[in-house]
Amino acid sequence: MEDTIASIATTLGVGAISIIRVSGKDAISIVNKIFKGKDLEKVASHTINYGYIVRGDEIIDEVLVNVMKSPKTYTREDVVEINCHGGISTTTKVLELLFLNGARAALAGEFTKRAFLNGRIDLMQAEAVADLINSETEKERKIAINSLTGYGSTLIKNLREKLINLISNIEVNIDYPEYEDIYEVTVNDLKQELTSIKTSLQEIIKQSEDGKIIQNGIKTVIIGRPNVGKSSLLNQLLEVEKAIVTDIPGTTRDIVEGSILISGIKLNLIDTAGIRTTDDTVEKIGVLKSLNSLDEADLVLLLLNNNEKLTKEDLELLEKVQDKTTIVVINKNDLPDKIDIAKIKNLPIVYINTLTPTGILPLKDKIKELFNLSKLEQSNYNYITNARQLAKIKECLNLITDIEDGIKKEIGLDMLEIDLKTIWNTLGTIIGDAYEEELLDELFSKFCVGK
Ligand code: GDP
Repeated sequence: MEDTIASIATTLGVGAISIIRVSGKDAISIVNKIFKGKDLEKVASHTINYGYIVRGDEIIDEVLVNVMKSPKTYTREDVVEINCHGGISTTTKVLELLFLNGARAALAGEFTKRAFLNGRIDLMQAEAVADLINSETEKERKIAINSLTGYGSTLIKNLREKLINLISNIEVNIDYPEYEDIYEVTVNDLKQELTSIKTSLQEIIKQSEDGKIIQNGIKTVIIGRPNVGKSSLLNQLLEVEKAIVTDIPGTTRDIVEGSILISGIKLNLIDTAGIRTTDDTVEKIGVLKSLNSLDEADLVLLLLNNNEKLTKEDLELLEKVQDKTTIVVINKNDLPDKIDIAKIKNLPIVYINTLTPTGILPLKDKIKELFNLSKLEQSNYNYITNARQLAKIKECLNLITDIEDGIKKEIGLDMLEIDLKTIWNTLGTIIGDAYEEELLDELFSKFCVGK
């Protein structure tokens, strides 16, 4: 981290102001070389300085320069931010001058990576920075900011603390059996501690499901044979003519996507090609895609026509969705009931029509009820939702199961202690206490340049 890095921190385009961020031990001296105004090497830290960016005698831009000296900065290094006039030409010119004077282009996420490597934030918090930048809804933002301010980190650190106490006690017992005044850890103590840690970890996993819904929305697949009203339902939900509605069976041949908010939660909608046996090659691909999308769905809306008897295809679809979170949506309730409803078993049913916005309200209510969306609305947004972190937590839960098996087999504490240490280490990788360089590269490459 000897290099001084620079990049545009704002979006490159036409705007009132662009901010160019420079970080590293030479940040101040490099900017000073192209700045006309006060001597930046002599100004106090955390000051804003008016002046010009120059190349020799030529004035490039009129700017405000923030000088922030280590360690109270984003990266914990010296950081200078140049507020120049927005616009591609000015911004890139200033950046170019910085490169000519010794800075190098920052890689994606490199400022945040430095904040992590310099110990200002842990890995969970660094990942939260990316989530914060990428958050699209208010709720996603709240989860990310809670994570950034240390909710998850504290949770993990507390569990590690419990573990290290246990491990050190066991070690003392093993290394100094002659010390009688030291508490001897029993298998029962170990069991108790493990149960408490396991409960906490399981709770994190359980809550993460809600968190994931808040963060990623509910992936909802609308499925049903042609002409039952899938496109009409999607349009009514999206309130726009996104999918083509016609009365010719098989018109929607590809997957159409769109999102709506229900109680502030994103419902990511996928309308599928009507599922039916067909010889049309394009339509066949669509049908195949529809069936595949079922596998990834959090919610399946299986549409049926109220005005027709159930067909063989309807019954096959009902069979296919039995083990999925499904709502059977009986459409066209404005027409006479002909559907043989008694054949539908074990699945929640709603009656709707897509003729008016109010016709689909029973469906929205059912979705709220099924996912407990009103409860999620009152959430405190303290969740761990990051896939990498959750995978590590699951690894720890498996290790706990191994130890529990070991206890049953009466394996000695000295052997079980090895697994305890592995759990402690694995929890450590969540917050970045132990990390591999490739992991960091992979993780920070997902950031935007300038962050
Ligand atoms: P898809 O093939 O499943 O996507 O079905 P569409 O949405 O294209 O609808 C097929 C036909 O059913 C169209 O003529 C729609 O106008 C009609 N339709 C859709 N929903 C309703 C409804 O709730 N009531 C009535 N009466 N007709 C509907």
